[in-house]
Amino acid sequence: MKNSNDTFKKIISHAKEYGFIFQSSEIYDGLSAVYDYGHNGVELKNNLKKYWWASMVQMEDNIVGLDSSILMHPKTWKASGHIDAFNDPLIDNKDSKLRYRADVLIEDYILKIESKINKEIKKAEKKYGLEFDEKEFLNTNSRVIDYQKKIDEIKLKMKKYFQLDDLVSIKKLIDELEIKDPVSGSSNWTDIKQFNLMFSTSIGASSDSASEIFLRPETAQGIFVNFLNVQKSARKKIPFGIAQIGKAFRNEIVARQFIFRMREFEQMEMQFFVKPGKQKHWYEKWKEKRMKWHLSLGISKENYRFHNHEKLAHYADSACDIEFNFPFGFKELEGIHSRTDFDLKLHEEFSGKKLRYYDNEINESYVPYVVETSIGLDRMFLAILSSSYNEEELENNTSRVVLKIPPFLAPYKLAVLPLVKKDGLSKFAKKLFSALKLKYNVTYDEKDAIGRRYRRQDSIGTPICITVDHETLIDGSVTVRNRDTMLQNRVKIEDLNDNIDPLVNMSAFL
Ligand code: ATP
Repeated sequence: MKNSNDTFKKIISHAKEYGFIFQSSEIYDGLSAVYDYGHNGVELKNNLKKYWWASMVQMEDNIVGLDSSILMHPKTWKASGHIDAFNDPLIDNKDSKLRYRADVLIEDYILKIESKINKEIKKAEKKYGLEFDEKEFLNTNSRVIDYQKKIDEIKLKMKKYFQLDDLVSIKKLIDELEIKDPVSGSSNWTDIKQFNLMFSTSIGASSDSASEIFLRPETAQGIFVNFLNVQKSARKKIPFGIAQIGKAFRNEIVARQFIFRMREFEQMEMQFFVKPGKQKHWYEKWKEKRMKWHLSLGISKENYRFHNHEKLAHYADSACDIEFNFPFGFKELEGIHSRTDFDLKLHEEFSGKKLRYYDNEINESYVPYVVETSIGLDRMFLAILSSSYNEEELENNTSRVVLKIPPFLAPYKLAVLPLVKKDGLSKFAKKLFSALKLKYNVTYDEKDAIGRRYRRQDSIGTPICITVDHETLIDGSVTVRNRDTMLQNRVKIEDLNDNIDPLVNMSAFL
């Protein structure tokens, strides 16, 4: 059910209704692929950053942080290859005037064939019931075999043409497959052109092209150009890492799937500098560590998988993605790349400055190799939001929407609710709220019946509700309600911390 389009639409409207995510500039009909985070969204996003920073910087003795600027010297992007090669192959439909990424058009065509295979499987499942053997069916059904053959052929051609940067053959393939504009149904295509994804602007008062600068398309280059500054000032020995969280900008053409592909987004990146020759060891280590980090969030491990890159970027000697099962299928959530000494060497060349590490164990200086982990904060947000969204049928023909967000990431850890406003319950509850605020992010709500207030907290993922009732005034105990089980316990106020902390304190999960 979670993989359906309907659920995804519901998640998007839930995110708006409960103050997680709004379309940017909505009153002007929105700015495509740009989003704003509302009062609950910003809390969840900040908690994600905190958790990543705590695990990647505070808990790691040999990683330090950095906050480099969005604007950098334009030579940075010449050196990194972004000016010449950070392109998407674009194709226009002459009738609809709509623009597409050529590779995405072909990939969508493959997806359509895959869904035909899935339909055949479902049909056969129904027909054969318990006897059905999917593996055997895939290997023997002639229609499925033909579909799969077609997919393999297209993939092979695509891989070859993109490797050769052969845009003419890619266009030919689109014509051969009779791929149509999904909106207009027309197959009247232009030739394919490369389109650079960087946003440019100009610096200072001059309007000549020499003043053109770019909004960074990744945070990594800020780390590379500061490599020696950080190494020397932090007195770090190799191997060590530099981590940062920050905005990146890409003029994405296929801007869809909500916050999965945005034009302005945030990355959490870490560059780990190692001795040449040791990169394989560290690449494997970071693969393992990053998957462990994801699993520590308690989301079921079936939702994650590694995807090894077959076609390596020119700067990498190994690369993989951690893919997540988003509502629209498995897609890249994080990249782990062994980038060799490519970036530092090119920055040496373009800046004329040495970016070398003096290794006093071997009395030699060298350009370190780099293993990087790079995760999109917004994609991580979407992974949490979509996997935590649950619609539950309850007793008495009622239902609830509950966000089962990992408790330590939830926007609010606790909600304090007086059962009724009168009889001094509000006053007592407000005092308790003020005391708990010092330690946790707490919300307070006294409007409407208690059942409705529980539902509101479920909808934003608050893991614990504390209800103050008449008994509280007599014996100093409160009701503690658990979001996921909906079970309620009576707890003395002085024991609240011991009850709450193991569930919501981030340090228990590091
Ligand atoms: P994709 O293939 O999906 O375009 P990429 O391989 O170009 O992604 P990287 O350059 O490796 O992505 O960037 C590292 C991470 O930054 C990605 O794993 C992803 O989580 C995030 N990211 C990249 N582009 C976007 C975007 N347009 N919107 C949101 N997050 C993004």
